[in-house]
Amino acid sequence: DNVIEIQGLKKSYDGGKIKALNGIDLEIKKGEFVSIMGPSGSGKSTLLNMIGALDVADEGTIEVAGIDLRSTAKLNEFRSQEIGFVFQMHNLIPNLTVRENVEIPMYETDLSTNQMRERALKFLKAVGLEDKADQIPTKLSGGQRQRVAIARALVNRPSIILADEPTGSLDSKTGDVILKLLSDLHEKENVTLVMVTHEPYVGNMAERIVNVLDGKIQN
Ligand code: ADP
Ligand code: ADP
Repeated sequence: DNVIEIQGLKKSYDGGKIKALNGIDLEIKKGEFVSIMGPSGSGKSTLLNMIGALDVADEGTIEVAGIDLRSTAKLNEFRSQEIGFVFQMHNLIPNLTVRENVEIPMYETDLSTNQMRERALKFLKAVGLEDKADQIPTKLSGGQRQRVAIARALVNRPSIILADEPTGSLDSKTGDVILKLLSDLHEKENVTLVMVTHEPYVGNMAERIVNVLDGKIQN
């Protein structure tokens, strides 16, 4: 019951000079929590970006949620329906309120304005930030902003959450809160969670660790 199936995936940059992925084979089961670990520059972000269809491979096959990412024309639809992204730098829009930021992924759906608002508030409640709904993100702490980003990632009920160094810009105590939140949501919602990190104690939270080195999987 794999939700992600990758075979022989290769990606290079700069006309082939930089080999970011060098033949990746990877299967991830529905509902699994996997950490992708490895040193800086080993290809972790490139791999995560391929899974989220933010970047396209040169060779190999990649199927996510039953969709062949190399041949589908509906990548925007795929991303907004199946994938929730959480990045190191939360990427919130500074001149929108917290609630409006959480509503962004729902623009792609046919929900009404009221339904979007209700659902945004429901997910803000789930991350403990209902009372911040009308604030702008710059008024929030780093940890609170990352919780907003998690609410935004979840709001379309994606089957997969992709998190790239989600605690990377946070102090360790705040980082722990974010990790706990992600793993709780993973358990409660049975969502597949794929997290990139280079910090062992963060990676160890996962059910399985995939080690990447020089664009290849080690284990
Ligand atoms: P990691 O996430 O493990 O730090 P990345 O996937 O970001 O590794 O990068 C893997 C390699 O590919 C690195 O050498 C990086 O500099 C290079 N790289 C990544 N993205 C690009 C890009 N858009 N253009 C050129 N080189 C890139
Ligand atoms: P990380 O170590 O978390 O991957 P990076 O700073 O290496 O963070 O990369 C951040 C983003 O910049 C990645 O999405 C990657 O695609 C891009 N990137 C990385 N290296 C390069 C590069 N040499 N040239 C252009 N873009 C790059």
